[in-house]
Amino acid sequence: MADAVSNLQAVRSKIAAAELEARRDAGSVTLVAVSKTFDAAAIRPVLDADHRVFGENRVQEAAEKWPDLKAAFPDIELHLIGPLQSNKAKEAVALFDVIETVDREKIAAELAKEIGKQGRKLRLYVQVNTGSEPQKAGIEPTEAVAFVGRCRSVHGLEIEGLMCIPPAEENPGPHFALLEKLAREAGIGKLSMGMSGDYETAIAFGATSVRVGSAIFGFR
Ligand SMILES: *Cc1c(COP(=O)(O)O)cnc(C)c1O
Repeated sequence: MADAVSNLQAVRSKIAAAELEARRDAGSVTLVAVSKTFDAAAIRPVLDADHRVFGENRVQEAAEKWPDLKAAFPDIELHLIGPLQSNKAKEAVALFDVIETVDREKIAAELAKEIGKQGRKLRLYVQVNTGSEPQKAGIEPTEAVAFVGRCRSVHGLEIEGLMCIPPAEENPGPHFALLEKLAREAGIGKLSMGMSGDYETAIAFGATSVRVGSAIFGFR
C-alpha cells in the first residue's frame, strides 16, 4: 500500500479535479485528514508534507497524541468530529480548534461556559442526523435550523457550519443536498460532508470541507 504522503497528494489532486468539475474555486474545499487510531509517528510525515488540518473522533485519544504535535507545529488546526460528552467539554475546548459535533442544548450550554472561562476562540458546527438514524449522533433535520438559532440567542454561540454523516448503505447525494438546504435556511455558509468513499460527490453538492481518513492513512 502507498504511504500516507503519496495518498495525501492523490486525495488533494482528486479534490482539485472535483472543484473544477463543480465549477468551484480552486482551493475552496478544505481537506480534514482524519487521523483517528493512528499514532503520532504515522501523523508526523503528513505534517512534514505541510498538511495542517486534522480530525479526531475521541477527545481522550486526541489528548494523548496532539499536545506534543501542536507544540511542534503551532499552526495545526484540530477538528473534533466525534460525539462530545458534556464532562469532556473542558478538555475539548482546550485542545480543539473546531468542534463539528454540537448537537444538543446541553452541549451548547457546556461549550459556551468553557469557551467563556478559557477565553478561547473556537469554530463550531452543528451535526445533523440527516438519515434520522436512532444510533447516530446529530440533531434531527426538522430541528436543525431552530437549534442553530438557539445556539446564538440562548448560548451566544456563533455556528459556522453544518456537518453530517450519511447512512452507510444509502446513496449520500440526497443527504448532502438536505444539509446544503438546511444551511441555506439557517444562513450558514460552511458544510462539512464527505469521507473517503464519497468526498468527490460531496464537493459536487457544495461541501466546503471533507473529512478523509482511510484514503490517506490506510485501513483502520
Ligand atoms: C472516521 C470518520 C471519518 C473518516 O472516514 P474514512 O471513511 O476513513 O474517510 C469522517 N468523519 C467522521 C465523523 C469519522 O468518524
